Amino acid sequence: MERASGREFDVVVVGAGGAGMTAALAAAARHGLSTVVVEKSAWFGGSTSRSGGGVWIPGNYALRAAGQVDPDDDARAKAYLDAIVGDVVPKVNRDTYLDRGPEVMDFLRARTPVRFTWVPDYADYQPERPGGRAAGRSVEPVPMDARFLGEELARLHPPYTKAPANLIVTQADFRKISLGMRTVTGPVTMLKVAFNRFLAGLRGRRMYAMGAALAIGLRQGLIEAGVPVEYETELVSLVVEDGRVVGVVVGHDGLEETIRVRRGVILGSGGFERNPELREKHQPLPLDPDWTTGGFANTGGGILAGIAAGADTALLDEAWWGPTIPLPGRPWFCLAERNLPGSFIVNAAGRRFMNEALPYVEAVHEIQKGEATGVSHVPAWLVFDQRYRNRYLFAGLGPRQPFPGKWFEQGVVVKASTLAGLAERIGVPADELAATTARFNGFAERGTDEDFHRGESAYDKYYSDPTVSPNPSLHRVDQAPFYAVKLVPGDLGTKGGLVTDERARVLRPDGSPIAGLYAAGNTSAAVMGRTYAGPGATIGPAMVFGYLAAEDLASTPTGDS
Ligand SMILES: Cc1cc2nc3c(=O)[nH]c(=O)nc-3n(C[C@H](O)[C@H](O)[C@H](O)COP(=O)(O)OP(=O)(O)OC[C@H]3O[C@@H](n4cnc5c(N)ncnc54)[C@H](O)[C@@H]3O)c2cc1C
Repeated sequence: MERASGREFDVVVVGAGGAGMTAALAAAARHGLSTVVVEKSAWFGGSTSRSGGGVWIPGNYALRAAGQVDPDDDARAKAYLDAIVGDVVPKVNRDTYLDRGPEVMDFLRARTPVRFTWVPDYADYQPERPGGRAAGRSVEPVPMDARFLGEELARLHPPYTKAPANLIVTQADFRKISLGMRTVTGPVTMLKVAFNRFLAGLRGRRMYAMGAALAIGLRQGLIEAGVPVEYETELVSLVVEDGRVVGVVVGHDGLEETIRVRRGVILGSGGFERNPELREKHQPLPLDPDWTTGGFANTGGGILAGIAAGADTALLDEAWWGPTIPLPGRPWFCLAERNLPGSFIVNAAGRRFMNEALPYVEAVHEIQKGEATGVSHVPAWLVFDQRYRNRYLFAGLGPRQPFPGKWFEQGVVVKASTLAGLAERIGVPADELAATTARFNGFAERGTDEDFHRGESAYDKYYSDPTVSPNPSLHRVDQAPFYAVKLVPGDLGTKGGLVTDERARVLRPDGSPIAGLYAAGNTSAAVMGRTYAGPGATIGPAMVFGYLAAEDLASTPTGDS
């Protein structure tokens, strides 16, 4: 049933995530356009709020303040994207991202309470490629007291991992804490976190960090700019007249409403990670939508509406992949766990098949190759011993903390007193697992992974143990009992979608722009192509192209493309 409305705005933004909220803020606060955000879920923030909040925008103010912008950084960053992304994405898109990114960060500093700070030494993901940077170019939000948001705070998208109120761990803290008691900075950081929590409680604060702080800051920016967010209002379709997008049809409370636009529609409705049919149609199997950590409402509505309006698509087979522990109901994106020394990953044949410390997209690309070789890598098994378990944080559990019984019952964790027993329980040949372990232990002794070069990249070392030598990424696996933890190809969301140009305009298969239609973030095909430049290389582009969409639409006279 259609609700009579007659409502009209300059701009309708679809989705209150990182891309959408930045676009709406730019449209209203920078260009003075009347703007509304329609949001399908009951929450703001989407995947952005669940994220680490890392942002990879070379040359931004926070990197400058930290002295982390080399004199030739602009040229180097461009060379880096040339090298790792290549022709999968037009150079003009990649260069525009880098040219305009710092300005977007300045805009957010001026118009929101979010402040960013450098994440020390969080290396680019391929730092040895031309233009890569071992000290990294990633920044994260400074933790903030979010009381200013009042009741609206209850609308923050549910978190990736639940933590008690005011327990604030930044990305930089996490690196130190993951090492348990191995270094002095681990316990000192834990004490700092505990003290800050106590202090915040005493002062009645409501502290947030990482992606939640970013989403809260963007939401506050919208409130100050007078941009409404209409919740539980889902994009159903685009209204197209004479080849131009002139409005949206949205669903709310079982009714449909047409909202017309004078300038255009910006799609920031995320990817399709929560849409089993679309995933099965486009993505490499095996795959399970329960393995994603992306936003709960991201079912690809914006992408489908764009396709119906004549848009071209790209990279639909891709995602922001990452080896993931399929804990029921809360998949765990496996990061430090597979980099820390004293562990390795095997396939169904009991053999290693990659450098376990690879950046997460590349690691899953390796996992996906298994199907073609006839030896499945799904599930793969992360094998480690009691020494490793005693030393490091694992999937949110402290060192030595026993795994919950449920994890064993559900077959996600397997334990045995011998390697042969472990092999039997995970169904891999015992002699192969024994041989793999012996070879790996030899590499650890000598400090060189002759098979996969683990520990050679500066990125591998970010989550390594500096007290282990000769290679801080490698240690023997030999102290019973032994463990194997299931790994599957999960993701942070999909990254294929509508093809856009450097102005975030949505393009048809013939390359012409669809007048009045823009897309940013995971609704658009990623400017990072099939790879991931460094920590923050998905939120960075989402915000930059959201901002550029607003700029283009503001500068385009009504009726033109
Ligand atoms: C655990 C985790 C950690 C991560 N860490 C990082 C990190 O540190 N750095 C980084 O760069 N990336 C990180 N990512 C990835 C990153 O968060 C996402 O790729 C990015 O935030 C996507 O932004 P977006 O605006 O496109 O989508 P989202 O932030 O997901 O926003 C999309 C919004 O659109 C809404 N929506 C969906 N469909 C409709 C519809 N039909 N109508 C109206 N609204 C709709 C959704 O509800 C949502 O609010 C992480 C992701 C996760 C899950």
